[in-house]
Amino acid sequence: MIELMIKDKQKYLDENYPFAEKIELTDIKECIHCGQNIQVSKYKVYKDKSGFEFICCPNAPKCNGTLIDWI
Ligand SMILES: [Zn+2]
Repeated sequence: MIELMIKDKQKYLDENYPFAEKIELTDIKECIHCGQNIQVSKYKVYKDKSGFEFICCPNAPKCNGTLIDWI
């Protein structure tokens, strides 16, 4: 997995967030993988070998949670 640098994080989030509910960079969520409160703006993006891009927990790679683990 390689980490991608995202210039416009709100735009990327709007285009790639899989749920109908909107999410803002200023939102605070809890990552159920590492149990920490995270600020959405600090998310990381990783790309796997097939080219799929994952929006990951700010604590990645230590935490392997992705945005579906944020509550
Ligand atoms: Zn996490």
